[in-house]
Amino acid sequence: MKELICKTENMHQYPIIIEKGIKGRLAQMKALFSQYHKVVIITDKNVAKEYLSDVERQVRQAGPKVYSIVIPPGEASKCLSQTAEIYDELVKCNITRSDAILTLGGGVVGDLGGFCAATYLRGIDLIQVPTSLLAQVDSSVGGKVGIDLDYGKNLVGAFHQPKAVIIDPLFLETLEDHYMIDGMAEVIKYGCISSAPLFVKLMGYAYYEDLVEDMEEIIAKCCQIKRDVVQTDEHEQGLRRILNFGHTIGHVVESYFKFKKYSHGEAVAIGMAQITKKTVAEGISQKDTYTNIIEILENYGLPTELPKMPLDKVQEILFTDKKFENDSLYICALEKIGKAQIVKIQKPQAIELFR
Ligand code: NAD
Ligand code: ZN
Repeated sequence: MKELICKTENMHQYPIIIEKGIKGRLAQMKALFSQYHKVVIITDKNVAKEYLSDVERQVRQAGPKVYSIVIPPGEASKCLSQTAEIYDELVKCNITRSDAILTLGGGVVGDLGGFCAATYLRGIDLIQVPTSLLAQVDSSVGGKVGIDLDYGKNLVGAFHQPKAVIIDPLFLETLEDHYMIDGMAEVIKYGCISSAPLFVKLMGYAYYEDLVEDMEEIIAKCCQIKRDVVQTDEHEQGLRRILNFGHTIGHVVESYFKFKKYSHGEAVAIGMAQITKKTVAEGISQKDTYTNIIEILENYGLPTELPKMPLDKVQEILFTDKKFENDSLYICALEKIGKAQIVKIQKPQAIELFR
């Protein structure tokens, strides 16, 4: 069992608990759950099928009354109409500020349920129980919650820190392989930006079973890196940008192919490879950084080659991206594996990243 404490700017702090099998021991977490009169579990159909009845039963045993809201799986649920439906349910269940929302699911459930918790009655307590690898190593930590608009992803949101994040690596047993690989792209990202030992460890797995065996430790390392970064920079002013390694180029790839051809993890993998190819050529990154990144991404079945995209279209997507500040783009580059830095690029030069 690993427990990390995440401190936030307003002196609030919350535990991130990473423990194999903890999903079977929620009933024992009385100190957490008995503070609430009611807990509303928000989950999606896939996760509900596997885990909902057990989680409901256990939380109920720990004290509160339990209600559940099951949404359709997939990014399309992270929308205004689904948000409105959840608000309706919360009103129907008479949820007050002494109650809490528990999100049980991947990043979609966490972002959407978290956004409802941040906004309903101007904010009620949130407990995150992430079940996908991406949610366990990334979206459940840091307090960013939000939904998509027709105009783009994550355009409406809030910073709403959870009361607790409860992570059980055993949830991953039922996660489909391609979502597992997607999450591995983010895990590799953490090694790249902040931990050469994690990178080397990930390079060394000959068998998938050995990787799974070490998952508790790997997830804990990723959460610790994310915790350290967001604790220093809760509202994405500076350091938090290092978490975007591979993401600037990745977002363009995802967006150009209308979020259909490449998953988020695949697009980030391409982004990490492409930016490093460029920074090695510029002498910013040590020479072997690129070959190491290609090797690890290929080992995990992730793509590395930037697909053909017309530069005028790339420019269009890039320039409408919210990441530009005063005509400058801040991107994360590696000095070497395990050490990231932020590089400022002027708007006209940004397109060079895609050649
Ligand atoms: P997701 O929530 O859609 O989950 C992927 C799929 O796996 C879904 O079909 C889901 O039903 C299923 N699933 C989840 N856990 C399962 C389990 N244990 N067993 C079986 N099936 C399971 O997607 P995701 O990849 O987890 O998250 C992507 C979302 O996260 C995006 O909306 C993205 O914007 C968001 N995100 C947010 C942050 C943040 O900081 N808030 C960071 C990164 C990503
Ligand atoms: Zn990401």
